[in-house]
Amino acid sequence: MTYVLYGLGALIALYVGCLLFKMLFPTKCPKCQSKNIVEKASVRSTFVQSERASPDLNTYFLCGDCNARSKRHKGQWSDVEDLEWNRAVKPGTPST
Ligand SMILES: [Zn+2]
Repeated sequence: MTYVLYGLGALIALYVGCLLFKMLFPTKCPKCQSKNIVEKASVRSTFVQSERASPDLNTYFLCGDCNARSKRHKGQWSDVEDLEWNRAVKPGTPST
């Protein structure tokens, strides 16, 4: 029974750690440095290179100030084309 509590405690600690990390290092728009940037989608995929598969994550952001659409991949920012944006950020999700 105590193992469940340990697990729960670890999960809460992880959650609080993530919140603290986000507070200390807020995401900023790569174009205008605004903090008014909203995560729109996270797309997981599996990246295969020389027969080794590793998880891959692309996160898509929309800036509320300059309306820039950006993608973060392994800490690197890049612009997003219309096609990729529409594919990643499903139509029907609130855009404001
Ligand atoms: Zn911006």
